[in-house]
Parts: sequence; C-alpha cells; structure tokens
Amino acid sequence: MTNTGRRIVAEGRLETAGRFRCSRCLEEFRHPVSVPFSAEYQAAPSGGEPGQGGETEDADEVVWYHDDVIDTAEEIRQSVLLALPMKPLCAEDCPGLCPRCGHNLKAGPCGCTLDDVDPRLSALKDFKADLES
Ligand SMILES: [Zn+2]
Ligand SMILES: [Zn+2]
Repeated sequence: MTNTGRRIVAEGRLETAGRFRCSRCLEEFRHPVSVPFSAEYQAAPSGGEPGQGGETEDADEVVWYHDDVIDTAEEIRQSVLLALPMKPLCAEDCPGLCPRCGHNLKAGPCGCTLDDVDPRLSALKDFKADLES
C-alpha cells in the first residue's frame, strides 16, 4: 500500500488455487490462480452519508473508506471473478465426453463408431443422397 497523500494505492497479487469443473469432461480439477490486484482508496468525506460520494470526476476508480479502515476484500473478490476462465479446461487437449454415450474420453475410447452420423444430421445425409441419385 502506498500513501500518495490524498489516496491510498493498494497493489498486490493474490496467489491461491481454485477448484474448477472442466467445461468439456465435467471433471473437477485444481488449478493455481494468480490474480493481479490494484485499487485506490480515499477517505470518505466527513459528515457525508456512508456510501455517498461518486461526485468527483474519477469516482469510479476510487473506493471510499470510512473510520480509518480499508477493507480490500470486495475489490479483490471482483479482480478474482474477472480473472477466472469462462470455460475452464482440465487440460488444453481434453477430449471431453463422447457426444453419443457420454463416456469420458480421457479414460480411453468408448467403442462408439466414429463415422456414426449425428441423428441431427441424418436428414442432411438423406438430402445429399437425393442429390447424388
Ligand atoms: Zn476435461
Ligand atoms: Zn461413446
């Protein structure tokens, strides 16, 4: 934390590990999380209602604090939420689940034939056959 005179500038990095669910195979896995964090704090104007403020031109970059206490939890929480992957993967090349039987392909092939036509596409196959005949 740096006291710039008017404001307290907090900078740091959160190092932890999170538990995620792979968006392909749905397995849970742990993954390290390293999130940079920075925020600027300014003492709330005395006499003002708590939470008031937002009147200065750069109010959205400044967090008011009260009673000489700075609580960084909310800003850190938001930094972490922004840094988390939208579609976590247990491995970059995770094969995911078989679209046919739901078997986790990471454990090996499931025996479904690869040239099976997706039922949603079989109408298209008939259409193509019509064109070829
Ligand atoms: Zn996976
Ligand atoms: Zn399968």
